[in-house]
Order: sequence, then structure tokens, then C-alpha cells
Amino acid sequence: MGLRQGEALGIKWVDIDLTAGTLRIRRAVQRRTYDHGCRAEGAREPTCGRRRGADCPSRRNGGIQLVETKTNASRRTIALPSQLVDELRTHRRRQAEERLAAGELWSDQDLTFPDELGRPTDPATDRREWKSLLQQAGVRDARLHDARHTAATLLLVQGVDLRTLMSIMGWTEMGTAQRYSHAVDELRIEAARRIGTALWPTVGTDSALTVRPLTVEVVFGHLALIANTRQLEQDSSGRRCGTSSAVSPRAVSPLRGEPRLRR
Ligand SMILES: [Zn+2]
Repeated sequence: MGLRQGEALGIKWVDIDLTAGTLRIRRAVQRRTYDHGCRAEGAREPTCGRRRGADCPSRRNGGIQLVETKTNASRRTIALPSQLVDELRTHRRRQAEERLAAGELWSDQDLTFPDELGRPTDPATDRREWKSLLQQAGVRDARLHDARHTAATLLLVQGVDLRTLMSIMGWTEMGTAQRYSHAVDELRIEAARRIGTALWPTVGTDSALTVRPLTVEVVFGHLALIANTRQLEQDSSGRRCGTSSAVSPRAVSPLRGEPRLRR
């Protein structure tokens, strides 16, 4: 669904309407660097003798934090595919079990994708899990943020208009949406070119594909090829968008959930 990582990690159950199938984006998890807490009033230099704020004995304002999203564009409500709503219901049941397992150690913050004790998930941990999911799925390495690009591209390929795309992605600039739509135009042109080559083969070129006469076998061969490619795209996009962006890996992946429950 193209969420930013911090947004996905910041989702609370109160933001999700499973009956209506909607999700409100209202806050995000951020990792902040610590400030020194040791400075005297008005003083500029820290007094603890340590360089990094994180090492200060009285460090403050840092670490993993849940912050309210500020701009109106990033505060948004998006519709969820019914398959994802089902996954979320399953995820909620699984989380209830984890919560029982954690007992009193569970910190109840209503988070949908917390760590094993109910606290906000460290974005760095989430990134590592994303990488390991990619490996398990046998797909090429990609940044977590690439899933967001994929979501935007797929929405455009499905014919979603730019205004709607902007509201789903939480973009403020029309220019951002337009850059994506140019990329999708190129995809469309390429698709048209391929179909043209398949249906009107030019005899005499040196390409093996184009000199083949147009027979029923050739047409069906191409249709099968197209169907295969689409399936592949759906598989990889399902993983990429479904896992990282719409929902963090643990919602969708049975690979992750089970080992934790067995413990
Ligand atoms: Zn200090």
C-alpha cells in the first residue's frame, strides 16, 4: 500500500477499521539521536565529557519515538484490499497470543506492528527483517523504500489518477506524481511495442521472434508469457508492497510469526 516505513510501524489498532476496510495514517515511528542532558542552564558545551549524546549519562529526547504526523497530506485514510483485512485479522489473533506469552512484560501501546514486548519497533530491526524476507523469497535485494515506489507504479498501471495517487501515497507535490506517471507511460509504450512485434511480425529482420509467422501457437505462446510475467510481478509486488509498506513483514509472513509463537 506504499506506506513509509515509519508510518507502517506507527499504525495502531485504533487506526484500522476492519469492518470498513480502512486505515488512517496519523503517526510514525522515528529513531532520533539523543541530546546531552548534562548541559548547565544556558551553556553550550556538554559537561559529561562524552562526545555523543547517546553516551551521556543524562541523555534525553532520543531513541525510538512515536510522533504524530504533521502535514495534512501525510495524515490520510486509505482503503485496504479485503485480502489484507483478512491478514490483519489473523495478525491480531497472533498478536494476542504473543501478548499472553510476554505476560507482564508486554507494554500495551495498541501498536499493530510492535516489537516482541509491545513497544515501537526499531526501524533498523524492521529493515533487517525486510532484507531477510527478500532472501527467503529468493528475490533480488532492494531497499525497503523501493516497495513504496513499486506501490505507486502499480497504482498507476492499474489506471489510478494522479490526484488519487497523491492522496494514497501522502504526497504534497504534484511533481512527484507526474514523475511516476512518465515512467508508467514508458512502460505502456514498451508494452504496445511488444504486442505490435508479436502480432505484426516483420519478415526479414534478424530477430528470431519477429521472423516467426503469426500462428495460433505463437499467439498463445505470447499470451502465456504475458500471463507468466504478470504472475511474477504480482508475486513480487505482493511481497514488496504487502509486507513492507502496507503492513510490516510480520503481518503477512507466516515465516516470521511462527517461530516466535513456538517459543
Ligand atoms: Zn552529556
